[in-house]
Amino acid sequence: MTRGRYQRLLLLGLCAASAATATEVVWPTSMDRSLLRSPEDYLQPTESRRLESGAFGMVRDDGHRFHEGLDIRPAGRTKTGEPTDLVFSAMEGVVAYVNPRLNGAYGRYVVMLHPRAEVPVYTLYAHLASLQPGLKVGQTLAAGKVLGVMGHSSTSETAIPKERAHLHFEVGLMLSERFQTWYDADADNRGVPNHHGLFNGQNLIGFDPTLLLARSSADVRALLRDQPVALAITLRPKRTPDFLTRYPALLKGGDSATAAGWYVEFSWQGMPIGWTALPPGDPRLRPGLWSLYGVKDQFRPQLIQRRMLTANGKAAGDTLIRQVEILTANSR
Ligand SMILES: [Zn+2]
Repeated sequence: MTRGRYQRLLLLGLCAASAATATEVVWPTSMDRSLLRSPEDYLQPTESRRLESGAFGMVRDDGHRFHEGLDIRPAGRTKTGEPTDLVFSAMEGVVAYVNPRLNGAYGRYVVMLHPRAEVPVYTLYAHLASLQPGLKVGQTLAAGKVLGVMGHSSTSETAIPKERAHLHFEVGLMLSERFQTWYDADADNRGVPNHHGLFNGQNLIGFDPTLLLARSSADVRALLRDQPVALAITLRPKRTPDFLTRYPALLKGGDSATAAGWYVEFSWQGMPIGWTALPPGDPRLRPGLWSLYGVKDQFRPQLIQRRMLTANGKAAGDTLIRQVEILTANSR
């Protein structure tokens, strides 16, 4: 055996060993992941026909509108053009929310929580044509179990023609268990009922699903922590945000028990990915509930587009303000 071949085998052995402690990930539609070579093979673009409009990021309205998931196109269709793809749970988990009605842009959708992943992320499956009969909140499902059939369900204002039927797939974190408290107090929501409780899209912050779906196993904590930090704030809420109770793996340091506040690092899209407890008197803590601490220059244009910063790039923008308000909803 050549030395090179031996080293390759050794590497394969190491990969297999680490895969055993990682989370199994299944492609969430009937497509065969092993045949997917590039985004063209699975993305469903919007009416713009620009491929990237089906991807995660600031890909809509010339880069001004955020798309929080992946739009995966059908692999098969009936004679009348409806998708035949089944939609599968991407990881082992618990059904957390089932919405059978067409009362929002997601249409018929299912949310799963994944308590046994390295970080208990949620996954979301939207625009379904139908739900798997008997699907119930609280049910535990293995990876790859059927949740429903791919479709194009939405509302009349956000209608999706069958030609552009797709699975909208999201993966991410829940900001607050007290989301309704924030929702009721926010002027923009006045007169608009919250049909989806904690599973309202505003309470969920996603990351790029291609990071999760690329392989048949993933270390979800590493995926979250490897996202680049784009800006940081310091925060001193009356109570520790419940976000930290849910996601203690995102704590980076400091003593939470005696914390007077937090140094919180955000990804460009507004996910609070790193939390450091700050002791009383730490010079980073400033008067008031929170303040913008620092911005990484290379992310400034993206942060402005996402409205994490104002148009001049100098102050907190609407998106960052909303994220912080929801994160601190339990301090109200
Ligand atoms: Zn989508």
